[in-house]
Amino acid sequence: MKLPQRNRDLRNYVLRNDVLRISLYVLWIAVWALSAYSYNTQHATYPDHRKILGWKLALLLAATVISGFFLFRIWKFFTDRSFCGVIERTSLSHSYSAADDPSLIRGIQSGQADFHLKTVLTVRLPSGKRRRIRFVQKEGSYHYYYEGNSIVHFRGLPYPVRAERNDVGYVCAACGRMHKEKAERCDACHYTLIDPIDLQL
Ligand SMILES: [Zn+2]
Repeated sequence: MKLPQRNRDLRNYVLRNDVLRISLYVLWIAVWALSAYSYNTQHATYPDHRKILGWKLALLLAATVISGFFLFRIWKFFTDRSFCGVIERTSLSHSYSAADDPSLIRGIQSGQADFHLKTVLTVRLPSGKRRRIRFVQKEGSYHYYYEGNSIVHFRGLPYPVRAERNDVGYVCAACGRMHKEKAERCDACHYTLIDPIDLQL
C-alpha cells in the first residue's frame, strides 16, 4: 500500500521525517562517542582505569544506542507499516489543557481551550490479524473513525484515512484537520489531502 501519486508531498514529508530521525540518532551517538574520546584525550596522563575505555566505553555506547532508539523513535522503523483494514473497535478518551469548562470546547479556534481526543483504533486486517493505532484528534471527528469503516494507515503518517467515499469528509493524514468538502490541500498544514478515489483497494 503506497501513497497515491497525487500525494507526492506526503511521501516527501515521510521521507524527510525518516531522514531527520536517523540523522539525529547518528548525531546523538556521535556526540557521546566524541565526548568520551575528548575526555580521554584531555586526561591523557590518567591511568587507563580512570579513562572511559573498555567496559565503561561499551556501557556508555550501549546506553547511548538504547536511549536514542527510544528518544528518536527508531523503533517505529521496525513496527510502523502501512496497512488497510476495518475498524473493529474505537476507544476514546479526552483531555483539555488551558480550560476544563466544556462550554469552551468551541473555543478551539480562539485558543481558549485545547481539546485532545485520544483515540485508539483496533483494526482488523484482511489477513485476520489485528493492529492497534493511536493518535490524538484535535477536533474530534467522531463519525469519521467509526466501527465498521475501512481505513488505510500509511507508514509515517499519524492519521489514517477512510478507504471509501463517505459523507463525513476528508481528514488530513499529516495534521488531522477535518475538511467537510473535498479540497486539494489541507487548510491548516497545506499538505495534499488523500482522495479515497486514489486508494484502489
Ligand atoms: Zn493538515
